[in-house]
Amino acid sequence: MALIACDVDGVVADLNKEWLRQYNRDWNDNLRNEDVTAWDLHKFAKPECGVKIYSYIRTPLIYDKVKPYPGALAFINKLKESHKVFFVTAFVPEQKGIKYEWLLEHKFIEHLDEYVEARNKSLIRADWLIDDYYGNTKNFVGKTVLFARPWNIKYPERCLSYTEALSKITDVEFRKEYLGEKEVLWKK
Ligand SMILES: [Mg+2]
Repeated sequence: MALIACDVDGVVADLNKEWLRQYNRDWNDNLRNEDVTAWDLHKFAKPECGVKIYSYIRTPLIYDKVKPYPGALAFINKLKESHKVFFVTAFVPEQKGIKYEWLLEHKFIEHLDEYVEARNKSLIRADWLIDDYYGNTKNFVGKTVLFARPWNIKYPERCLSYTEALSKITDVEFRKEYLGEKEVLWKK
């Protein structure tokens, strides 16, 4: 059994869909998820909007509209059959605890023990980190799944689906537990 830290936005919560919907409505644009091919969303917004695009995620209200990605809950439940899973998410002060409520509402968690807020995820101790931000997977001390999204397209070794993420974790953990392979060989 491995201890798995799972990110929220971009892995199980489709924040960008609602974020772009609100931005497109207010700034008369047609920005799509697949257009956002790097982490800094403001670079894809209209120049007159720029960094104002981040104001949308400085309000807790946006999570009333954010939906889970299709298949996300089934993926987490499958992981929980063999591993201990908790969620780790960055936050702004205006959103303290909001994603805990969201995860609870959408049945990803049942208890506060399954939830951690941390901007610096390299401080988290777990066997795995599943995240869509390369900066987080790059600096994590354990094994990682970089979950494929348009904004991390330039990085190698992404998992393209929940099925692929599940098989990567299952394969590595099997080899470690039953074949005795050294963890270091499978770090990334
Ligand atoms: Mg994320």
